[in-house]
Amino acid sequence: MLHIVACIKQVPDTKIIKMNPKTNTMDRRTAPAILNPYDAHAVEEAVRIKNRYGGHVSVVTMGPPPAVNAIKTCIEIGADEGYLITDRRFAGADTLATSYAVTKAIEKIAKIKPVDLIICGKMSIDGDTGQVGPGIARRLDIPPLTSVNKVEEINQEEGFAIVHRKLEEGYEVVKSTLPCLFSVEKTINEVPYSPLPNMLKAARYKPHIWSVDDLEDVDIKQLGLKGSPTIVSKVWAPQKPAGGTFFEGSPAAQVEQLLSVLFEKKELFETKGEV
Ligand SMILES: Cc1cc2nc3c(=O)[nH]c(=O)nc-3n(C[C@H](O)[C@H](O)[C@H](O)COP(=O)(O)OP(=O)(O)OC[C@H]3O[C@@H](n4cnc5c(N)ncnc54)[C@H](O)[C@@H]3O)c2cc1C
Repeated sequence: MLHIVACIKQVPDTKIIKMNPKTNTMDRRTAPAILNPYDAHAVEEAVRIKNRYGGHVSVVTMGPPPAVNAIKTCIEIGADEGYLITDRRFAGADTLATSYAVTKAIEKIAKIKPVDLIICGKMSIDGDTGQVGPGIARRLDIPPLTSVNKVEEINQEEGFAIVHRKLEEGYEVVKSTLPCLFSVEKTINEVPYSPLPNMLKAARYKPHIWSVDDLEDVDIKQLGLKGSPTIVSKVWAPQKPAGGTFFEGSPAAQVEQLLSVLFEKKELFETKGEV
């Protein structure tokens, strides 16, 4: 039976979040926390592979205690088990420290049930780096297959996977040994509405919650802020373009406003004899 681990992250909904105009940082209180949309596709693909070949889907996340809700969303999609690693010592982690902590969690999950495949989203919508997946693969010394937009075959007996990787023009077909790690494009699948039994299961589901002390062979220096060489030297919001006119209201109202500006300009040119 295949064991697939999907790595997921809870993120603020960046469609709703507002910037603090004084500090130019995201005001996280203004947006609800959601499952990173790319990760919903990662979990959906893991569930599809399970339904095709038989198997078990675990999800794992490093985050604060409310990240339990993101795990519940994954159970609604069809995941079987969820693991949250949460501890103040993880706080302030950049992508290097995040990939280290998540790798330690996967190593522990693999002791419970050996892991054949790890699936990540292409990127998170708040960090946007796309570094965590390849970072995990590097640490586990398994092949990273990025930009996967179709899973052609998973053959556990012969130990290989065949996938399509999206390229700028077209795609390439890649065969890899198992275990390996995919990071998936949103185009890989559509996430359907969850069936009622999954929703009921999710409502009652209690994920496994681990602290740093529950993981094995952890080098504390590689966790959290201490293990994060990234320095964010400045954060700023892009300048609004100077000049111009901002239209408000419904699209129809905005078209009206645009037309009246254009007519005004036309009249001006006509009086100057330029048209
Ligand atoms: C100095 C510094 C301090 C930071 N402090 C914090 C902090 O205190 N709290 C905080 O929330 N963020 C913090 N961040 C942001 C944090 O480092 C990143 O969000 C995190 O490392 C993931 O990187 P990313 O968002 O670019 O993910 P990407 O690499 O774009 O994500 C790709 C995929 O990796 C997987 N993935 C990403 N993150 C996780 C995760 N946490 N658990 C499991 N799988 C995951 C998902 O499958 C995701 O789709 C900090 C960043 C810096 C630079």
